[in-house]
Amino acid sequence: PMSPPGCFLSTSKFTEYRVSDMTNAIVVVGQEKSAGVSGLTTALLLSKSNANVVTIIAKHMPGDYDIEYASPWAGANFLPMSTRENSRWERRTWPEIKRITEEVPEAGIHFQTSRIFRRDKDMRGPSCPSDPMFDHDPWFQSVLPDYKELDAASLPAGHDSGCEFTSVCINTAMYLQWLVGQCIKNGVVLKRAVISHIREAKDYSHAGKPADVIVNATGLGSLRLGGVEDQAMAPSRGQTVLVRNELHPMITTSGTEDGLPEILYTMQRPAGGGTILGGTYDIGNWESVPDPNIALRIMRRVVEVCPEIAGGKGIDGLSVIRHGAGLRPYRKTGVRVDRERLDDGTHIVHNYGHAGWGYQGSYGCAEGVVELVNAIREENGESLVTEPK
Ligand code: FAD
Repeated sequence: PMSPPGCFLSTSKFTEYRVSDMTNAIVVVGQEKSAGVSGLTTALLLSKSNANVVTIIAKHMPGDYDIEYASPWAGANFLPMSTRENSRWERRTWPEIKRITEEVPEAGIHFQTSRIFRRDKDMRGPSCPSDPMFDHDPWFQSVLPDYKELDAASLPAGHDSGCEFTSVCINTAMYLQWLVGQCIKNGVVLKRAVISHIREAKDYSHAGKPADVIVNATGLGSLRLGGVEDQAMAPSRGQTVLVRNELHPMITTSGTEDGLPEILYTMQRPAGGGTILGGTYDIGNWESVPDPNIALRIMRRVVEVCPEIAGGKGIDGLSVIRHGAGLRPYRKTGVRVDRERLDDGTHIVHNYGHAGWGYQGSYGCAEGVVELVNAIREENGESLVTEPK
């Protein structure tokens, strides 16, 4: 996990509200290219209330592959990256991801055992990984099922400790399309548009009036989008190799011999989605073209730690589908889920800056947006009692 979510504008419109006679036109603006996982999930949750008329606008939509659109490039798995204090977003997301995995196979998520391997030398000093997934006593051991520390015999050479738990891997191509379908079922309208200032989103609502609330889920786009221009945003480039080879369980290590920003992880996507080999976490790097030297190092590291992936044949035993590079929407000060008001009175609710955990925090953050939208409605004297769709 290590990337950012997309954006979309949602307008809480209203064609068929039943209980409340005031409705919100909400425009959710996705990231720079298409509606990413952040915008789509937010639109989905907002659209569950008949009081909201939701329109998504985005430069990029599921099906697109573009350096300005992070979501399709993610693995994606669920390896907690937040501290205990900031764990709300991931904690609240896991139950819904688990439910979808169990009950909705066509969403493209499957359970997969995750193994994390630590080297003592990585756990000290300047390059110590700050992700809590490497903690010895992590907060998520009571959230993700089947957590246990591994015995020495289960560790690959050169590693000092490790743990194992049940996680998921998401076939992002399938899952993003599934989210679009769920939104459409709830009456959400999706439109292609590129905006240069956040206030422009107002006029894209299909509610027959300008949007009351704009949700900004533009990911890395928030660095340059007028009215937002958040200088805490930066790309965290992730290069990957997608292969046909299968590998269970998925693995992640605390460090590599190739130094930062190079990292090592694998995960097998469900439904023939291939296996993702990672990767890099390179803050400040905007390069869209995969670097062949980095690709070779990624493959070499994986076959060293998991020779079985290539039948013991080394890199020659890997069957490459595609090389990829995506930009995680990294935010120096952490994710932004909050609200503000434009001079003309329009409310903006932000949901961006998820770096490498946009999927695993998606439902928690979207729920945070719904709370903020409801607070706006309450302040406007609107009833919160609505019929769910
Ligand atoms: P994006 O997906 O970038 O979407 C932004 C949307 O906003 C797009 O639709 C874009 O077109 C639109 N937009 C932006 N600006 C404008 C504008 N001006 N006008 C109109 N539209 C605009 N996360 C995990 O949870 N688990 C993982 O295992 C994981 N692995 C990753 C591996 C890699 C290599 C990468 C790159 C990322 C990974 N991530 C992972 C992170 C995850 O992909 C991101 O956190 C997530 O996709 C961010 O989604 P988003 O919707 O905020 O942004």
